[in-house]
Amino acid sequence: MREITKPDQMQDILSGEKNSGKRIGVVPTMGYLHDGHVALIREAQNENDIVVLTIFVNPTQFGPNEDFERYPRDIERDRKIAEQEKVDYIFNPSVDEIYPQGFSTYVDVEGVSDLLEGEWRPGHFRGVATVVMKLFQITLPDAAYFGQKDAQQLMVIRKMVRDLHMPVSVNHVPTVREPDGLAMSSRNAYLSPGERKDAVMLFTSLQDAREQIASGERSRDVIVESIKSKINTIGNASIDYVEIVDPGTFRSVQQLEPGREYCIALAVRVGKTRLIDNIFLIINN
Ligand code: AMP
Repeated sequence: MREITKPDQMQDILSGEKNSGKRIGVVPTMGYLHDGHVALIREAQNENDIVVLTIFVNPTQFGPNEDFERYPRDIERDRKIAEQEKVDYIFNPSVDEIYPQGFSTYVDVEGVSDLLEGEWRPGHFRGVATVVMKLFQITLPDAAYFGQKDAQQLMVIRKMVRDLHMPVSVNHVPTVREPDGLAMSSRNAYLSPGERKDAVMLFTSLQDAREQIASGERSRDVIVESIKSKINTIGNASIDYVEIVDPGTFRSVQQLEPGREYCIALAVRVGKTRLIDNIFLIINN
């Protein structure tokens, strides 16, 4: 495994690999790796000759009052995991390498970037799309791997790749969860033991909604209200949103219709920690 920090050097090496016929898979992350990241790496290993793991806590996707500074980092541990998973290259540039003085070109995926997460985190998806575009330019991937946990991010990337004719296949991996159902996230490290227990309610309420829908409920308002009432049983939780959306647009729907697929997405602050989760479901005829 080689670790590279300079964009030019990474691009040179990988264009050499590509020219010698190697298929390149890239897994973009912000590090502090967990089993969700490992699932992406393994999928990339299955489908490519060379796996590049990028580790970059991207300042442009954090709002001014968000957790950029205190976002958890542990490069030593990440290196060990990457080594165990037989990653070929870690690319972990500095902020100055990615955003040098005078940097001023951004990618805006209009529409979807303003909904849900975008509404609560203005500018977030602009930062995500910009850095992913840069990482693709630097690592020249044939395929890239993203988690279903960040379903809206996945859609933003897919749209960018389509709109800009980028020759990258965008793949997704299902959300990896802790044994009790909490979606794995680097931010779970912020939770106190009490908050960690309470946080299970996010997934529990989504699963309950799935059952409610299976038994015939079709009204968005009823389903969303029952999710919210469960989450509000957590003492120090505050809900940013709970929404049922069309996964093709991320627009909310009012009434669920047979034969269609939906995504129920939520963002909740448990104490000071903002967590997101979602499930996908298809309504039976
Ligand atoms: P992050 O380091 O949190 O920016 O995540 C990097 C990639 O890992 C993104 O594509 C995430 O969607 C994905 N990811 C994060 N958590 C999970 C999880 N629990 N299961 C599957 N993928 C995940």
